[in-house]
Amino acid sequence: MARIVIAGAGAIGASIAYQLALHGADDVVLADSEHVAAGATGKAMGGVRQQFSTAAEVRLARESIGFFEELGRPLFEQVGYMFLATTEDGLAALEQRVELQRALGVPVQSVDAGLVEGVDVDDVLGAVACWEDGVADPAGVTRELVERAEALGVDVREGVDARDVVRDVLVIAAGARSAELWPELPVRPLCRQLVEVGPVVGIPDDLPMVLEAETGFHFRRAGRSLRLAMNEPTPRWTDREEVDEALVEDWRERIGRRYPAAAGARVARAWAGLYDMTPDAHPIIGWLGDGVYAACGFSGHGFMQSPAVGKAVAEELLDGASSFDLAPYRLERFDDGGVFPEEVVL
Ligand SMILES: Cc1cc2nc3c(=O)[nH]c(=O)nc-3n(C[C@H](O)[C@H](O)[C@H](O)COP(=O)(O)OP(=O)(O)OC[C@H]3O[C@@H](n4cnc5c(N)ncnc54)[C@H](O)[C@@H]3O)c2cc1C
Repeated sequence: MARIVIAGAGAIGASIAYQLALHGADDVVLADSEHVAAGATGKAMGGVRQQFSTAAEVRLARESIGFFEELGRPLFEQVGYMFLATTEDGLAALEQRVELQRALGVPVQSVDAGLVEGVDVDDVLGAVACWEDGVADPAGVTRELVERAEALGVDVREGVDARDVVRDVLVIAAGARSAELWPELPVRPLCRQLVEVGPVVGIPDDLPMVLEAETGFHFRRAGRSLRLAMNEPTPRWTDREEVDEALVEDWRERIGRRYPAAAGARVARAWAGLYDMTPDAHPIIGWLGDGVYAACGFSGHGFMQSPAVGKAVAEELLDGASSFDLAPYRLERFDDGGVFPEEVVL
């Protein structure tokens, strides 16, 4: 059997390696130039949601949720994802998305946000939630997949550039650095940051991920702290991973308003990582040329889609086709000018 070398042991590369081994591949190398989960995977928020604005994204997330459910606690906490709308327009947009999501089988529902302990909802006009969604530990999940893959015979090499490994097929799963391996890939690094404030007294174990639909500000529980994120007013198109302190202060004020028990809480930690953005915020999955395959460009939401991606890619590499329709994710879509922008990039 041909040797398949995967470049990148983040959530995507690890999932592909594990699925290849499960599907019977016996010569797979998972190489990371640094270490397992060194890239975006180790920096991520850990949100697992099925609430997107396009069918292409909803389907990948929907296909992945069962894997997270099987993993369960402590790697995945199925606490739900709740979007709050504070304007009529925001509410209308949420309701429109719910129609699409429900048509694709996602159990999203209107909820009374006031029932979620600790969240200030004075300005909230309406809310929707999907209780199948939740929060996870991306590095922990990835290490678990790598261990499973290794147990099935995958050769895991840390500190090794995949380009230096002899192979028949190279799978590019190198996140924001993917274009270093294939310069025609339209994948650009975007710097994003996360902040943890705490300790905060009394955060319920089942606090859902809470999102403000209009601003994109969102937060989850992370132990005794709250982990915060938000769309940034000016996108930072750079591969420098830097924390913007002005944003940290802004977010601290926001969390104090939305979750009053966190008012004045100190910043426990702040860090930055890179989204691997494509022009339409959808991933690139498929053959690039002879012996080179891409699974990259996940645009800030690849962790939650990694189970479905791993399985589909393994099937395509080993059987020539996947039971999951990969047509919307091919690189060629950009040749035709075909774009279908995903709006819920958080
Ligand atoms: C701040 C932040 C928050 C996020 N929040 C979420 C979220 O809530 N939910 C979600 O689903 N996603 C989230 N994401 C996105 C998510 O982290 C990624 O989409 C996901 O982890 C998949 O990553 P990956 O495996 O494609 O890439 P990465 O995790 O970046 O892994 C790529 C790996 O490739 C390695 N590499 C690079 N070049 C080579 C080479 N030549 N040879 C060998 N190895 C190489 C790197 O060392 C790295 O380990 C977030 C990302 C960031 C930065």
